[in-house]
Amino acid sequence: MLRTKDIIDEKDKRLRVKSKEVIFPLTKEDKKLIETMKEYLQNSQIDELAEKYDLRPGMGLSAIQLGIAKRYFVVVNELDDNEFETYVLINPKMISNSVEQIYVADGEGCLSVNRPVEGIIPRYARVTMEAYDTEGRKIHVRAREELAICFQHELDHLNGILFTDHIDPKNPFKGQDSMRAI
Ligand code: ZN
Repeated sequence: MLRTKDIIDEKDKRLRVKSKEVIFPLTKEDKKLIETMKEYLQNSQIDELAEKYDLRPGMGLSAIQLGIAKRYFVVVNELDDNEFETYVLINPKMISNSVEQIYVADGEGCLSVNRPVEGIIPRYARVTMEAYDTEGRKIHVRAREELAICFQHELDHLNGILFTDHIDPKNPFKGQDSMRAI
């Protein structure tokens, strides 16, 4: 079972690596890791389990956050009380995006960033991702609002980018007026 301490911290240089394309079929190890990531993300969003296993809540996790430099990530989105939808995106590409930009008013979070960070991260309000599922079938996923932000955040991880990179240290709230807060 994956625990919060297994997730690499931002100080670790591996998070700066550009992850490599996955070649199908997936290895047993990758399949197992994906299941473990799903389990972590879902459990972390269920209060009693998060408390029991001391899990920091999160909705997305990329393989590189566990030290595996392969281009895939998992997102578990809570639709209703303890009701979840799960996305596994392998070799993802963002094939279209809205003009409109949004940002998380409370600031974005990351399971690899263990400190408070202030500032605005501009993200597209709507995106379409092209990716492959665990069987190697091509999929298209459309997302908006929080889910769209999460996909963009995870895609960044595959390119060695952290959300903190998007914040201008001299003016962390730059552009706030031209974007919608969610
Ligand atoms: Zn992250």
